[in-house]
Amino acid sequence: MDDSQGVPGPEAGTAQSLPVGFPPELVDVSSPLFCQFLDLLPDALIVVDEQGRLVQANAQSSVVFGYSRQELLGQSLDLLLPERFRDIHRLHAAHYFKAPRLRPMGIGLHLFALRKDGGEIPVEISLSPLRLGDRLYVIAAVRDMTAQRRAERERALLLQNLTVQGELLNQAYDAIILRDPLDRILLWNRGAERLYGWSAQEALGRISTRLLRTDVPGGENAVRAALEREGQWEGELTQVCRDGRLVVVESRQALVRDQQGQVLATLEINRDISERRRREREARAMLAGHLSLLEQLFEEMPFAVALVAGPTARLLLANQAVRRVWGAEWEAGQPFLAFLRSHKIAISDLRGKELGPEELVTLRVLREQQAISLYQEQIRRADGSLLPVLVSALPLRLAPEALQGERLRQVAAEEPLALVIHQDVTPLKEADELKDEFISIAAHELRTPLAALTGYAEMLLRQTERGHGPPLAPWQREALEEIQQGTLRLAALTEELLDLSRLQAGRLQLQRLPADVVPLVRQVVRRLQPTTTRHQLEVEAPAQPLVALIDPHRLEQVLTNLVENAIKYSPQGGPVRLRIWPDGQQAVVISVEDHGIGIPRHQQGQIGGRFMRAENARAWGIEGTGLGLYLARALVEQHGGRLWFESEEGRGSTFFVRLPLLCEEGGDQLESGDTGGEAAASPSPEAGT
Ligand code: ADP
Repeated sequence: MDDSQGVPGPEAGTAQSLPVGFPPELVDVSSPLFCQFLDLLPDALIVVDEQGRLVQANAQSSVVFGYSRQELLGQSLDLLLPERFRDIHRLHAAHYFKAPRLRPMGIGLHLFALRKDGGEIPVEISLSPLRLGDRLYVIAAVRDMTAQRRAERERALLLQNLTVQGELLNQAYDAIILRDPLDRILLWNRGAERLYGWSAQEALGRISTRLLRTDVPGGENAVRAALEREGQWEGELTQVCRDGRLVVVESRQALVRDQQGQVLATLEINRDISERRRREREARAMLAGHLSLLEQLFEEMPFAVALVAGPTARLLLANQAVRRVWGAEWEAGQPFLAFLRSHKIAISDLRGKELGPEELVTLRVLREQQAISLYQEQIRRADGSLLPVLVSALPLRLAPEALQGERLRQVAAEEPLALVIHQDVTPLKEADELKDEFISIAAHELRTPLAALTGYAEMLLRQTERGHGPPLAPWQREALEEIQQGTLRLAALTEELLDLSRLQAGRLQLQRLPADVVPLVRQVVRRLQPTTTRHQLEVEAPAQPLVALIDPHRLEQVLTNLVENAIKYSPQGGPVRLRIWPDGQQAVVISVEDHGIGIPRHQQGQIGGRFMRAENARAWGIEGTGLGLYLARALVEQHGGRLWFESEEGRGSTFFVRLPLLCEEGGDQLESGDTGGEAAASPSPEAGT
């Protein structure tokens, strides 16, 4: 059905009379004053008589219709009507003139007028009857609606498009809501139905924030302001579903505008993140739990644990025990040496020699970036008390995220970090001292009866051999020889124990003199070759003498221990090769190589410690005390040398002894006190490969 109408269409009603006192000049529609009066009005105005002729038109009507006033006057109104409306309009006009009254024309209809240029324009028309004398006119106020109609069309189209898109978006998982400028819901997709529980039918037209009891962290106005300013907003909202359940959504909102920039609606896309948030909350709570447990463990640990940074070992973190061990407060950020100085603390080795900064484990670990374990130091506090400690240190590499923590923020990205642990070993040291004391007493007490036993066994054998007394039966001779061997072994063990107690007490003294080490090595080989038939002892040595400042007796003891071990720990026999070579101008190295049982890798670090034996040595049933190497290394170190080894389980071992050579300049020199150096070797943890 066509709902369009031409200009003007009368309806039933009554004509208006002129008010009392109306200026008489205005009674004439063609008078200039009447004309001027009409020109003042903003709408296009035309006056039509009962015959449908245009009798007056104001200036604005020329703008709307494109005709000048002269062109309009006297013309039939048909001039301004599109062809298709002319007949029906004439009918309406006749009707209107019968009962004229003030009213808008064609309510609910879309009216059109014809312009001079042939174009049609949408118009809105108000009609007003005017009786002048005995004549009846109609004044029609015509408003050009082109712009409004266009805007309305666009608006309808946009909303239609959004609705279509909204339909498509029904497939989306997210809740998608379209709200008009008054927050009334225009679109509610299936995602929204699923999430909130209201059907689209129930939700449409409701005020969304009220329906969902939306809670915005910064307040609703903040969202509105952001939307107005930037056209969009993103953030988290808490909303209440139909069943009362609280949901947290990640919301993205954007304004939808028409071409003129008028806000048509707000598009809101909400994603339910309640589950994610719940999991995050749980994870945070769990993490906090773990952290507090770790912190508790860290604080309660019986060792002093400090996290330090940078080459000066600045303190980052420390547990309670740090205060106990140092007897002073090491303040966060304070470099290690500054801390020692400010509290008059000194650190020494076991012999009491003060250690320089380059020797302190806390600083070494940061410089060398290598783990150091169980190193012995002594802390001398300001009050003079001494604390023996075992120090272990571990270089740390922290992930950048770990450095975000409050206390680690001051750490530069490339700065070295280390964890340093000081363990108070006073009780161990006391137990050790007791053990040493016992060993010393036992060894001394054993010495005299052992000497008697050895002496008498030897005397019995020798005197009988010489024909003094009755000859011995073979079993008696064998028993005596067994006694002699046993007592010799016991005497050797007692000597080792005595050496150990001397070493611990700092009384193991060297009698050093310049001597060639090559003949000494050959002599040891000569002495030990007869003790085995299954091993071939070989020596590779340079022709020239290699003179070092040595205690020949003690060096022989060292070499004897190494060669005896090579024999003992190669139960299948085979070659035992000794090599001697100069290491540059400054040193000589002696190596003892066997192809025996070797030392398990995991125990290599501990071999050389007091009474330390490898598990495979015991498994093979090879007897030993674990003292020989400990003493050997202490003796070599007392010579200013170094003892180390390389070994592979099941393939054999090579032990090395490096001694400084005695040379004209720069080498080892005989000095006063050199033969009487008090040195207690500490079991170095770095033994092994
Ligand atoms: P022991 O009296 O036990 O031989 P040492 O102090 O001489 O004591 O040696 C300590 C430990 O080192 C030995 O018990 C053994 O486990 C290991 N060991 C020493 N030398 C060798 C070697 N040549 N081959 C294999 N293991 C060896």
